[in-house]
Amino acid sequence: MATAARGDVMGRRCKVCDHAGREAIEADMITGMGLLPLAAKHGVSKSVLARHRTNCLAPRLAAAARLTAPVAITQGSAHGPKPSPPDRRRPARRFCR
Ligand SMILES: [Zn+2]
Repeated sequence: MATAARGDVMGRRCKVCDHAGREAIEADMITGMGLLPLAAKHGVSKSVLARHRTNCLAPRLAAAARLTAPVAITQGSAHGPKPSPPDRRRPARRFCR
């Protein structure tokens, strides 16, 4: 299973992870840009973007939030110690599917 690299979902490479503009796409995603304008701007389909956000970006943002949270606390962030969830449009606690 050496192919389980980033963005490798069920044997298929994530098109966004392979995209040359992946960082720009993710930056737009993080600013809250909708999937439709994102798809139009970067030439990637909406479903591919949604899958990347769920499978690739969200887990990495969650990990990054855990890593950076203590720093934010010591810096006295105005937003408080609670890191914002990767996708603000969804409730943070949603384990049931
Ligand atoms: Zn991806």
